[in-house]
Amino acid sequence: MDGDQAGPEWRRLQRTSRKGIKPLNITDLRVAIIGHSPVIRITTDEGIDGLGPVAIPRAGHIRWHVPFYKEHIVGEDPTDVERVMLKIRRMGAFKPWGSAVSGIEIALWDIAGKAAGVPVYKLLGGKVRDRVRTYNGRIRFPMSGTEPQDYADNMAKMKASPENFTIIKQGVAFHSAMAREIPGFFLGETEGRGDPMYHPLRGPLSERGLKHTIACVEAMKDVLGDEVGLALDCGPGLTASDTLRLAQLLEPFNLMWMEDTVTGDYSPEVNPDLYLQVTPHTSTPIHTGEQIYLARNFRELIEKHAVNVVGPDCGDVGGIAEMKRVAELADLHGILIAPHGIGVGLIGLAAQVQVAAVLPDNYIAFEYSTGEPSWWYDVLEGLPSPIVKDGFIDVWDTPGLGVHFNVDETRQYLSDEDAGFFDN
Ligand SMILES: [Mg+2]
Repeated sequence: MDGDQAGPEWRRLQRTSRKGIKPLNITDLRVAIIGHSPVIRITTDEGIDGLGPVAIPRAGHIRWHVPFYKEHIVGEDPTDVERVMLKIRRMGAFKPWGSAVSGIEIALWDIAGKAAGVPVYKLLGGKVRDRVRTYNGRIRFPMSGTEPQDYADNMAKMKASPENFTIIKQGVAFHSAMAREIPGFFLGETEGRGDPMYHPLRGPLSERGLKHTIACVEAMKDVLGDEVGLALDCGPGLTASDTLRLAQLLEPFNLMWMEDTVTGDYSPEVNPDLYLQVTPHTSTPIHTGEQIYLARNFRELIEKHAVNVVGPDCGDVGGIAEMKRVAELADLHGILIAPHGIGVGLIGLAAQVQVAAVLPDNYIAFEYSTGEPSWWYDVLEGLPSPIVKDGFIDVWDTPGLGVHFNVDETRQYLSDEDAGFFDN
């Protein structure tokens, strides 16, 4: 059929289509630290801007890290997200060095969605679910101690929180105070160590450490019953053999997963061969991946079936399209995905909802993130209220990420250094 035979309707569609893809140009890349959350803002020559999170709680370095990418993206069309990412994706690395690239990717999707007048999930392939499950790894209550009863009391508070989460994650072993506070918990050094970013605790567990961990899990399961799933964050720092011993002894508790055992947090490595000493030998699902940058670095972990669940963080892995790549590769190999995400704040929460809507059926739940201080909920508009209902978030339909700042309200919280953040 040629153009003439197609008639005026075809010509009208062609005109509309050309009008709809008017190019934009990136004019600036900025970062501000708003409360506890660093935020990226990309501006364009058409007045459309994009927001992205920076997934790092101690974020002084992002003041020079984010601007490093500016010269590579200014002048590019932000709606050609992949073409922009090809220019900067190589210049990132494992956590925390993937956070700026990830935040930029998310801000580009925000612009692309706004420019097209559609929510980001439409551009990522369209949603496969109308509401997304989120799990609690973020809403915490102070621990009264590190004994089993302390864990039970704390879990009771989390179970009673109004979000009614269907999965709660709790730290044990090296991902908790018990490793330092229970005398003789493990056989390694504690002096000058324990900061997960710089020098985490690491070493073989003692029999006392092993028994204490199991007693705490049993106490938490007594509270949760079979109504709420329990996931454990365990390391990094465990040996492969301790991980296997713990995973086997915890089998009766039907855990959702054991996360970050031999690696995790800020480990600059993947180590699939260590996970292969564990995963095939226990029915407890083994999970890792929050620090891993790019889908390609999940390849061995997934193709070797070294874990049962992967947990990339949209703010560290390279963004939300990158998260989808990980999920699809995992799904081809029968591996599940439960994305990490405590450090991405409310803009990251919006991004997590958009991508969770489009992931394959290997999706379990993403880790909930919060705005801190609480005035974040007053200055960022577009989120549902309440955000979580019975452990799920309804996917909203507003363009882009669907969230924006009330600029007048937000300015009072900007430091002098960030005073120009909202300028055009
Ligand atoms: Mg973790």
